[in-house]
Amino acid sequence: GEGIVVSDLAQKMAVKVREVIKSLMKMGEMVREGDIIDQTTAALVIEEFGHNFIAVSDTQLEDDLQEAATEKQGNVQTRPPVVTIMGHVDHGKTSLLDKIRETKVASGEAGGITQHIGAYHVGTDRGVITFLDTPGHAAFTAMRSRGAQATDIVVIVVAADDGVMPQTEEAIDHARAAGTPIIIAMNKMDKDTTDPERVLNELSVKEIITDAWGGDTSLVKVSAKTGMGIDELLETISIQAEIMELTAPVDGAAQGVVIESRLDKGRGAVASLLVKKGTLKQGDLVLAGEFYGKVRAMTDENGERIKSAGPSIPVEILGLPDAPMAGSEFLVVSDEKKAREVADFRIARERERLLERQNKMRLENMFANM
Ligand code: GDP
Ligand code: MG
Repeated sequence: GEGIVVSDLAQKMAVKVREVIKSLMKMGEMVREGDIIDQTTAALVIEEFGHNFIAVSDTQLEDDLQEAATEKQGNVQTRPPVVTIMGHVDHGKTSLLDKIRETKVASGEAGGITQHIGAYHVGTDRGVITFLDTPGHAAFTAMRSRGAQATDIVVIVVAADDGVMPQTEEAIDHARAAGTPIIIAMNKMDKDTTDPERVLNELSVKEIITDAWGGDTSLVKVSAKTGMGIDELLETISIQAEIMELTAPVDGAAQGVVIESRLDKGRGAVASLLVKKGTLKQGDLVLAGEFYGKVRAMTDENGERIKSAGPSIPVEILGLPDAPMAGSEFLVVSDEKKAREVADFRIARERERLLERQNKMRLENMFANM
């Protein structure tokens, strides 16, 4: 098989290069970050870090379906940016998401009951913005470890009275590893204990030089409490999105990512999907992770029934037989037989991984007891 550069492998797993080198050393491999290691060794490292290794040849079936879907997609247009808010605990992620939603959604939408579907979208003067509303690094990392890059822009919230903290640094590292542009939201500006200069200084230590200091990272001062700076933050996101020239085909079979899912007693499997390409319609046959089924009903984040959803639009669907894992890719397929084949193959693959993990644990226990 093909090899991979050690630093690339580390970046793909969002871990420090030196952790990967350490893990390789334990296997008796002395390497530097620029060295290439073979696929078998890489697979061992990947498992060591708790990720799943997928050999390229096994995914042919999936590629075929993907290709069939892509063939039918067309009419490329500008699409809304998808934004994740990250930052240290208590710096105001949830408050900020709530405030944006409250000021932008509640005012525009008539009578809808807002529901938690893992994402929402807001209209601004410069266009639509979609927010993934499961803040935090766990969700972001889970998605990335499954290969799903759902986020275009990361907004990092830093409380102006607390500064750069461990999870702020982690957020910066995650965004960098994913190659996602960062916007800093300096929050809690309504307080009288803020120290913006200190925050700028601490950010610069992490090599985040904000526009206030002549750098290229946008910083917006906000207050999730009073709503100050929210419009400016949305405008900054839109400008960043314009620079990125985000586009997607609007027509044809939808594909995207599962952002959340759960089993509901009355309604069965409920899955929140973010469309990345094409348009998802009621009645479509969806393959999501290991499950497939026809979209029975589709609603937006306001609980309103909708018939279709285009790129960057989050929806909640009913119709899958079970809840696919967050971060799984979904795809609309026309061939039910192929959908079943891929689903079966994925179920088998999951089972194999589970067995491998159990065997590994059994071995470890054996050695521990020796
Ligand atoms: P998270 O852990 O990052 O999601 O932070 P939260 O949104 O839960 O906020 C943590 C605490 O900070 C809560 O008590 C909020 O009310 C408060 N808070 C959040 N944003 C602001 C703000 O802009 N100003 C003030 N004064 N308090 C805020
Ligand atoms: Mg929170």
